[in-house]
Amino acid sequence: MDSNCLFCKIINGEIPADKLYEDDDFFAFRDITPQAPQHFLIIPKKHISGPSAVTDEDDQLIGRMMRVGAEIAKENGIGDNFRVVLNNGEDAGQSVFHIHMHFLGGRAMTWPPG
Ligand code: AMP
Repeated sequence: MDSNCLFCKIINGEIPADKLYEDDDFFAFRDITPQAPQHFLIIPKKHISGPSAVTDEDDQLIGRMMRVGAEIAKENGIGDNFRVVLNNGEDAGQSVFHIHMHFLGGRAMTWPPG
C-alpha cells in the first residue's frame, strides 16, 4: 500500500472505479480512457511499481494475474482475441506506477504498437 498511489486508492475504495473483479490478491476495472471497445486493467493489491520491480517472491502472483485476467476477458466477451500490455517506465508509456496489465479487445489490433 502506497498512500500516494492512484491504484492503491482505487483498491481501497478512496477513488471510484468500474470494477469487474476482486479477490484477495487482485482488482480489475475498466480503463477510464478505453483504447478499444473492451479495455480493462488488472492490478495486484500488493503495491509493485512496475514490471522491473517484480522480484522472485512475486513469481506466483504475476503468473496468476495473467491467468485471472484471461478469465475476466472471457467472462466479458473478449474471448480468446485480446492484447495484453504492460508498460514499464515513462518512455514506454507508463503513467501509473503500480503494476497493471492492460487487456484490450473487441477490435482487430495492428503491429507494431506506437
Ligand atoms: P499506463 O499508461 O500503462 O501506466 O496505464 C495507466 C492506465 O490507467 C491508462 O490507460 C489510464 O487511462 C488508466 N487510468 C488512469 N486513471 C484511471 C482511473 N481513475 N480509473 C480507471 N483507469 C484509469
